[in-house]
Amino acid sequence: MHTFTKQFKISVNDFPKGMADIDSHLTPLISKKTGIEEKHILSYKILGKSLDARKKSNLIFNFKIEIEVDPSININDLFLDDPAQQLSKKNKNHNLNSLNVKKDLPVNPVVIGTGPAGLMTAYLLAQYGLKPIIIDIGKPVDERKKDIKTFFTDRKANPKSNFAFGEGGAGTFSDGKLFTRTKDPKIKFILETFVKAGAPEEILYLKRPHIGSDILPEMVKNIRQEIEKLGGKFVWNSEVDSLIIENDSSLKNIALANGEKISAPVCFAAVGHSARKLIKNMIESGIEHSLKDFQIGCRIEHTQEFIDKKQYGITNLPKCLGAAEYNLVNKPKENISGATTFCMCPGGIIVPMVTEDGHLSTNGMSKYARNSGFANSAIIVNQKAQNFPDINEVFNFIEGIEKKVFNAGGGDYSFPAQKAYSFIRKETGNLDNQETSCNLGIVPARLDGILPDRTFTAISEALKYFEKVMPGFMKSGVLIGAETKISSPVRFIRNMDTFQSSVDNLYIVGEGAGYAGGIISAALDGLRSAEKYLSKVE
Ligand SMILES: Cc1cc2nc3c(=O)[nH]c(=O)nc-3n(C[C@H](O)[C@H](O)[C@H](O)COP(=O)(O)OP(=O)(O)OC[C@H]3O[C@@H](n4cnc5c(N)ncnc54)[C@H](O)[C@@H]3O)c2cc1C
Repeated sequence: MHTFTKQFKISVNDFPKGMADIDSHLTPLISKKTGIEEKHILSYKILGKSLDARKKSNLIFNFKIEIEVDPSININDLFLDDPAQQLSKKNKNHNLNSLNVKKDLPVNPVVIGTGPAGLMTAYLLAQYGLKPIIIDIGKPVDERKKDIKTFFTDRKANPKSNFAFGEGGAGTFSDGKLFTRTKDPKIKFILETFVKAGAPEEILYLKRPHIGSDILPEMVKNIRQEIEKLGGKFVWNSEVDSLIIENDSSLKNIALANGEKISAPVCFAAVGHSARKLIKNMIESGIEHSLKDFQIGCRIEHTQEFIDKKQYGITNLPKCLGAAEYNLVNKPKENISGATTFCMCPGGIIVPMVTEDGHLSTNGMSKYARNSGFANSAIIVNQKAQNFPDINEVFNFIEGIEKKVFNAGGGDYSFPAQKAYSFIRKETGNLDNQETSCNLGIVPARLDGILPDRTFTAISEALKYFEKVMPGFMKSGVLIGAETKISSPVRFIRNMDTFQSSVDNLYIVGEGAGYAGGIISAALDGLRSAEKYLSKVE
């Protein structure tokens, strides 16, 4: 048997229009491209796949494929034009068994939060024989799902079980996009863990993979069950109020909101950036931190058909093409801030982020099939940390916007909305028969009056620019908002060698710590922190 790796460009038109799963049907095309008869191709494994949609008349998939052929084939003959392609480069891997672990670590480390950061932290600790205790304000995912369903019927906020809080954290009901700019071999380990827990195998090779909110809940449940099998214990419905620190530098106990105290020989706080009360209390207890830039903005919604037409040049998509995405950037100029699209959800819906009664902000999620018929994305603008004296002012600023959004929507968690062209003209305009993915509806309002002036100007300028690069983007777009839960305004100081915070045995990890933004980077930060804790310093 011979194995080699080769890159192929395959036109979308080479696949039957009704074929969705092209990845399992590549043998005839590999045969055609290499000249090897199908009967000699024993198997293949896709190592990479991306779509090149620059030429709308000819959409191309770029595949990187490892191919096994029978020994009768002289592969040297195949690659005279490009011998380098014969060599399969060994993928760097994160080896779980490679850690040189400290002896006599306390058996029950405490992890706060079951988002990607907390879950991966607990997973690694458990893999190394520790029995972590994992505390979460919310509920296991099946109960969390029911609470979200109830919210959509009774329109009453549930501050402890919602789109931000509960099993799996903020990523559970999301698009589950998994790309990150960070390069680290541990990402492969994370993706493999996700696949073992039920994520589609294609996330291992797609350039822009996503999982979808219909698969994510089962996936996080399976990871939790694996941690439980290894001896980890999950404590639900338990809001951590504060961390009790002795002599300014040593963690003593974890105080729950119900008055209980939990002793913690070591604690990983992975609470996300929506845990504002706890974050404030952590700062007040003297844990060293700095403010960092953060973003606010609003969502824009179009029909997916419009985005498909713009990005692919067609609307009646062959099944092998997923709903189209976009990523637009308007650079800052002179005195006007830049703005960028963020967390685009093809075929998704806009969801209400409600962690406090009377507060409202947007976010987006999609199912695996991305087939809602709508496309949404945030348009976000940077807010400089230097404009705020302390964390209280930052949170007051953000919460002020969330309250205005709630009130402008009529006080029942409907979203305020405005056509994008009305926004730039500072007019309410109308939303006559406007279709939307928002389950609780939209009402006409002045988003331009909710956002600060600089942010309004930045989004207006961006919309005008986006209209030039994607005609119709502003004209047919509806702004819904505002969006405030985008990134953490705080970074807890850590020792970059040990990842420990300014308090002994306290690791603050993931998005709430200010070291991650997104599912993969949060999971990676959890994994790295657990590794630092477990490993002997050589
Ligand atoms: C709707 C939505 C869609 C998103 N889509 C994507 C996407 O497609 N791709 C992507 O990369 N990112 C996406 N994100 C962002 C991503 O989900 C976050 O970056 C990621 O979840 C952060 O992980 P984390 O573990 O640091 O924090 P979180 O996921 O926020 O987890 C924090 C955990 O702490 C718990 N907690 C909070 N406060 C307390 C307390 N006081 N006591 C005890 N427990 C507490 C919470 O219940 C939660 O389980 C999305 C976010 C949302 C909200």
